[in-house]
Amino acid sequence: MGSNIVVLGAGVSGLTTALTLAKNGGHKITIIAKHMPGDYDIEYASPWAGANSLPVAKQGTPSQGYERATWPELEKLARDVPEAGIHFQDTRVYRRTKDANSPVGDWFAELVKEDPWFKDLLPNFRKVTGSELPTGMDGASAFTSVCINTALYLPYLTSQCLKHGVVVRRGIVEHITEAASLHHSGKPADLIVNCTGLSSLRLGGVEDKNLYPGRGQIVIVRNDPGVMASTSGTDDGPDEAVYIMQRAAGGGTILGGCLQKDKWESQPDPSLANRIMKRAVELCPQLVPEGKGAEGLSVIRHGVGLRPMRNGGIRIERETITGPDGRKVAVVHNYGHGGYGYQTSFGCSQAAEKLVNEALQQKAKL
Ligand code: FAD
Repeated sequence: MGSNIVVLGAGVSGLTTALTLAKNGGHKITIIAKHMPGDYDIEYASPWAGANSLPVAKQGTPSQGYERATWPELEKLARDVPEAGIHFQDTRVYRRTKDANSPVGDWFAELVKEDPWFKDLLPNFRKVTGSELPTGMDGASAFTSVCINTALYLPYLTSQCLKHGVVVRRGIVEHITEAASLHHSGKPADLIVNCTGLSSLRLGGVEDKNLYPGRGQIVIVRNDPGVMASTSGTDDGPDEAVYIMQRAAGGGTILGGCLQKDKWESQPDPSLANRIMKRAVELCPQLVPEGKGAEGLSVIRHGVGLRPMRNGGIRIERETITGPDGRKVAVVHNYGHGGYGYQTSFGCSQAAEKLVNEALQQKAKL
């Protein structure tokens, strides 16, 4: 028969989870969200992501499993589903030894290893040496990954949800248990899946103090870099980074960035934007016509997004939460995806689906 489920949130986590449940479980699903694909808002991380898949999970952690399970799905979309807006990219990751203990260096620690766990997962992995290394770099690896045009992919996921019978509605809840009254059937939901990202810091009934923002600032340009490139750090500060990726299907090239812990500022910082553009052209001179510097970049727009970082990593757990009115609601959480929400999206949704099925079976026995 299927159960009544409300998925709270329409970022990459909510949409992928709703789609996974709708495809496999035959449930009746409503997505409720304050922000939807098409919106650009500081409370909505998903549109701001690059987005690419550069594995950063430490070996042996649940996140490693989520990244491992997600890659084949992204690869399939890039190969077989052009309308998803995902394409393959030649990728270079550069390492500077001096970045080892900086915040960006820590973030990239697994990625820049000479012998990383993902070398047999992502295609064409090889070490880059000698004359292929730009000045100042101590090592590098090359492999094939993907870049996702989030302006196409989020609507694609929404369309897939609609195709599989999911009902999508706007709504804002103060306390998570309120979502149980918002199922499209008019009946109380049997379960809520919480995919509210960084907002779970303040959402009533959750208020997870392990969450914090990892601010990312980007510049989107029309120029073609020819390669997807990142470095383990910069000389402009320990929380600044260089990454360059061209989105599929005319989505522009994303220049990043930074990982600023606990910074909530929604407006782009113009001097940081200048540093981002200058560093991108230094690393990837083919971005601009010969002899031109950053003034050779054709800017589409500047942007800021807040990565939903979480001490302890992504939270995929189930619990029963009691509302202010005393009502008890079964909840499965899937939030706290930091800077890796796309590259873990399918693995996380599969893990959440398992907990949803466990919770529903337990409920049926009562
Ligand atoms: P969000 O996208 O923030 O969505 C949250 C949803 O919950 C929204 O729909 C919101 O409206 C809704 N919501 C919240 N509170 C309520 C409420 N009370 N009531 C109703 N609705 C509510 N990841 C990668 O994998 N690869 C990358 O290359 C990459 N690059 C990034 C670059 C930048 C600059 C940034 C900022 C992030 C990047 N990320 C990347 C990370 C990725 O964007 C996030 O991990 C991911 O988008 C989180 O998705 P989410 O669905 O959990 O949260």
